[in-house]
Amino acid sequence: MKRWTPTLLAGCIAACACAAHAQDPTRALGGLLRQIAPGALVTPPVANAPAPNELIQLLSQSVESIDEGKEIEIGRQLAAVLLGSKPLHRDAALQRYVNRLGRWIALQTPRPQLPWTFGVLDDPGFNAFAAPGGYVFVTKGLVDRVDEAELAGILAHEATHVVEKHHLKALSAKARSGLATQLLASQLRNNLGGAVSAQMLALGRDLYSSGLDQSDEYESDRQGVALAARAGFDPYGLPSVLQQLRTAAPDNPLFTLTLATHPPAQQRLEQLEAAMGSRLDGYSGKPSVAIARRVQQR
Ligand SMILES: [Zn+2]
Repeated sequence: MKRWTPTLLAGCIAACACAAHAQDPTRALGGLLRQIAPGALVTPPVANAPAPNELIQLLSQSVESIDEGKEIEIGRQLAAVLLGSKPLHRDAALQRYVNRLGRWIALQTPRPQLPWTFGVLDDPGFNAFAAPGGYVFVTKGLVDRVDEAELAGILAHEATHVVEKHHLKALSAKARSGLATQLLASQLRNNLGGAVSAQMLALGRDLYSSGLDQSDEYESDRQGVALAARAGFDPYGLPSVLQQLRTAAPDNPLFTLTLATHPPAQQRLEQLEAAMGSRLDGYSGKPSVAIARRVQQR
């Protein structure tokens, strides 16, 4: 079993040419995701879409200068970076289920009009990722270890990152610091063809291996819990996942990236407890629903 540590993640994106990673991420986005989620709006870039290098220039200016169309294009490129590291899982019924669940949750956000697209990555680790414009990915290893309310909590946490533009702001800060240029010096190879500029690949690699600011994570925890409750799920789904993370052995490779890129689970639980109090208790206590059962029902 491969360890998915930040180092290896970065290494895979940059240099891995093994069969598992040979999937063309742009085709995966436009192909499998379109099949499993008709109308997913994983559209190829439009004719007048900004060139990859223009996006980096935009990011170097200010987040306010990035309109929704360009935000989506930046997200599409970052999604390609993620899919260049880990392909989508082949279980189309599972992909459909996670898309339906995720889109229902996304409809309850202040940005329901985004082209929300959810995918399950074929990886045994316990991870979730978001990219600007409405892209959210969870790993198969995560899906296998949670029930529906817990998955809803995770998707709501990731959707909040999108709504609040956390990744866009972090990328912009990195671009302004000149990090892309520095990273390029150590770049081995861009295996994503012309779909993603070398700078965007370097920034994406750095972002997904180092994580967001802790304050962004706490905000997504708080808003994610409220969002999951608004969508009709037990608000204790996300806290339940955090309990699981808290008890995960720190040297368990399946949890390494999540633990390395987030504040300690105990602190996240304490912050949530302080924010939630008992206000959401009336929404809790719903029976646990196994994901395998849901997928079979469809
Ligand atoms: Zn997060």
